[in-house]
Amino acid sequence: MKDGKDRTPPGDRQGRSWDRVWSIGLVLGLLVSACSAPAPTQEVTSTSATTGLPLTTAVSPATSVVAVEHLPTQTVIVRPDPDPPASGRAPEDGEQGIVVAALGGMPYAGVPGGEVIGIAREGLVFGVEERSGDWFGLRDQCDSRIWAASDGLAFTPRNTFGEPGRLAMEDAVVVVDPGHGGPNTGATGNSGLAEPAVNLDIARRVRDLLSVPHSIDWETGEVGAGNSVPPVKVVWVTRVEGPPGADIDSGLTYRATLATMAGAHALVSIHNNADPDGSFVGPGSEAFYQIADQQSRRLAGLIVEEFRRGFAVFDIDWVGDTDAGAKYRLRSDGIRDYYGLLRGSGVPSVIAEGAFISNPDEEDLLATPEFRQAYALAVYRALVRFLTTEDPGSGFTEPYPRTLQAGSGAPGPGCVVPQQP
Ligand SMILES: [Zn+2]
Repeated sequence: MKDGKDRTPPGDRQGRSWDRVWSIGLVLGLLVSACSAPAPTQEVTSTSATTGLPLTTAVSPATSVVAVEHLPTQTVIVRPDPDPPASGRAPEDGEQGIVVAALGGMPYAGVPGGEVIGIAREGLVFGVEERSGDWFGLRDQCDSRIWAASDGLAFTPRNTFGEPGRLAMEDAVVVVDPGHGGPNTGATGNSGLAEPAVNLDIARRVRDLLSVPHSIDWETGEVGAGNSVPPVKVVWVTRVEGPPGADIDSGLTYRATLATMAGAHALVSIHNNADPDGSFVGPGSEAFYQIADQQSRRLAGLIVEEFRRGFAVFDIDWVGDTDAGAKYRLRSDGIRDYYGLLRGSGVPSVIAEGAFISNPDEEDLLATPEFRQAYALAVYRALVRFLTTEDPGSGFTEPYPRTLQAGSGAPGPGCVVPQQP
């Protein structure tokens, strides 16, 4: 997302705009507090005649209609997604896990016991790696060490229970990683659709699917209402907060640390691809696994299987690499994984490359909520099978040697921890 514009297609905005409406509702509630019901019940979107900017009109049955312009300098605070905790406990001695910056943000210092140098935005998540006295050493979004005291954070201990394969969904811990963000723009399509926003939208859909019960028809792959597949215990997303801060810089060490410190049963990194070899029969979806981890390999095979099932209904001119499928990529030493996220994560991890954003036909698909949902559903079904069955997956291929370098994924020199407004 190079220019910071939200390229989410208009049809997809409705479901995602509630946080913003909620905040506007809060402001409106203050403006018209004497006579109003607090929450608007309906939203009407139009365009400002004076500025050409979108207007959101919040309609409350008990009050008049009030319009708020989305000016660039707006002071409306977009709420983090998901809601940050109001408060929580701090880690005890020796505990590892995840902290979430609570409502109002989390003060932090550069050294244990040092002066506060910033307040991390509420809702941000951090892996806790060490402790010094009453201070907790966290890996921040810039891959650096920051130190927090017990103020303004809520702690979840590192999961140590269960192995993927015969796990109950209710016991599962999953990390979903929307690839790229901030100055790390990844691949961009011909029409300007860029990976960070697309990947984030798909990741949030995966999170939402994992967070509520469903039924799944395994014959057809259809996912519907029901209780046969319960929600997971915890799902963490590595870029989580509202639109202005969602496009943050986020280092690979930070992302990998979150998965490790969560004790996740699986990490899935959501990406879309570029530089195919040529046209392809069916989708050229890929999933990269960790060479030394059989569970990672199995998860990649399941993701490829479900991509092929879920994308078969889209009749377009697909592209792909001749070695498309579930595969690995090694560094020049021929031993270690090429991708830093797979190298750095201590849990079964896969980089999913669902579609080629560089192919105009697939870029058009990625711009639709229907295809993004199909992508998310495929990852969801693959995770359910990975966690609760010993299905082996399929689509494994022997990769040919590659010389094209991937981006480093390192945070930019201007990287800062997103601050509480
Ligand atoms: Zn990518």
